[in-house]
Amino acid sequence: MQSSTKRQFKKGEILIREGERGDCAYVIETGNVEILVQREGQPIQIGLRGPGSLIGEMAMIDDKPRTATVRAVDDCDVLEITREDFSRRVEAADPVLKMVMRVITTRYRDMIGRTETIRFVPSPATEASENAEAFHDIALSTIKIHNELKVALQRGELMLFYQPIIDLMNMKIAGFEALMRWKHPVKGMISPGIFIPVAEESGLILDLSRFALEVACDAALKLQAAASPKITGPDPVFVGVNFSVKDFAEGNLFTHMRETLAKKGVAAPQIHLEITETLLMEAPEAAKAELEKCREIGLNVSIDDFGSGYSSLSYLHYFPIDTLKIDQSFIRSMTTHPASLVLVKSIIGLARNLGMKVIAEGIETVKEATILSGMGCDYVQGYWFAKPMPFDDAIKFVQNWQPPKLETDNNQVNSNT
Ligand code: C2E
Ligand code: CA
Ligand code: CA
Repeated sequence: MQSSTKRQFKKGEILIREGERGDCAYVIETGNVEILVQREGQPIQIGLRGPGSLIGEMAMIDDKPRTATVRAVDDCDVLEITREDFSRRVEAADPVLKMVMRVITTRYRDMIGRTETIRFVPSPATEASENAEAFHDIALSTIKIHNELKVALQRGELMLFYQPIIDLMNMKIAGFEALMRWKHPVKGMISPGIFIPVAEESGLILDLSRFALEVACDAALKLQAAASPKITGPDPVFVGVNFSVKDFAEGNLFTHMRETLAKKGVAAPQIHLEITETLLMEAPEAAKAELEKCREIGLNVSIDDFGSGYSSLSYLHYFPIDTLKIDQSFIRSMTTHPASLVLVKSIIGLARNLGMKVIAEGIETVKEATILSGMGCDYVQGYWFAKPMPFDDAIKFVQNWQPPKLETDNNQVNSNT
């Protein structure tokens, strides 16, 4: 990493000029500087700074004009920190340190905002400082959850629940999706919607994903052992595991996948790798390279929440994809909004033409299941079949599986609309 630059200023030289844009800050090593502001056209000294002082940091962070002039009172040695250098250092910092930095800089800005509120503009600045307060709370609770989550993983408070995925063509159990839960000793069951975003932000997601993969491999073997062709069909039962883009970009996911499958003795097709399209777009090159390797060894790549992002369809050619999981928002509105029905039908047709399978998520009623069956959707998953459940219940679910009946008199079952 490029280090900061040492510079010298002679007595009387200007380090910072009021009104100019600031793209660097200085740490004074030797000598003194005076801080001057213009009052009625005259420079007035408002302070002196000596060795060890940091000056010009807020204009550097915010890319704003300098609010004062700084002039060398003696010959000075300073260390120059550019915005680029600063940003690079923050990016490379430990995730928790990064969060702390964000809290501190927002607080600092907030403090300056408050002073300006009193002096100049009341409402917009007040609003900005209220936003900043809300941001502090979020950032601090993020740090708290991050620390607790780390301990939770070590203490075995994290676990996977399993939700069945049903093959609509034969009404057999095709597989399960593994969904993480945090059994907090005080707060009870915490949903992944709360802790996964924190884990993603803090980098802990890499550990969580590895944990999920290991547990899901064990589950895949046991679920397969409990299965029979009458219940699950000829193919082995698969388990879908959710991954984050960080697993691809930083986590060396492929190597870990291959090693874990070999260690556990699980066949690659038994693991479905789920990743959302929005996350894929964050690091397309890294994701493509890792996904291709995963697919080469027989892992199934599923695009989660398909249709919910704003991505262009052209990425379907770019990434190696086996399965599209239609976002539950489409399923939810399918029975009330004809446009959603058309969209779902189009996605199923598109997938078929591209040689991909489709899983529809969030099926809550027999009507939805029946419509999807009529459209030729391959697989379905949702509360109508079963909610995500602990592993032991998933085994019982396989052992006791009775295919539910679809509606027979629904006009849309075999319609081509
Ligand atoms: P997802 O991958 O889209 O998972 C499906 C979510 O929909 C699950 O929520 C599931 O419980 C819920 N669901 C399933 N069927 C129905 C239904 O019929 N109706 C309704 N209303 N909801 C249904 P959950 O378990 O709360 O998980 C939320 C999200 O958290 C997941 O969305 C996934 O993005 C993330 N997540 C869960 N486990 C993991 C994990 O191990 N790793 C990662 N990276 N993310 C995970
Ligand atoms: Ca998923
Ligand atoms: Ca989903």
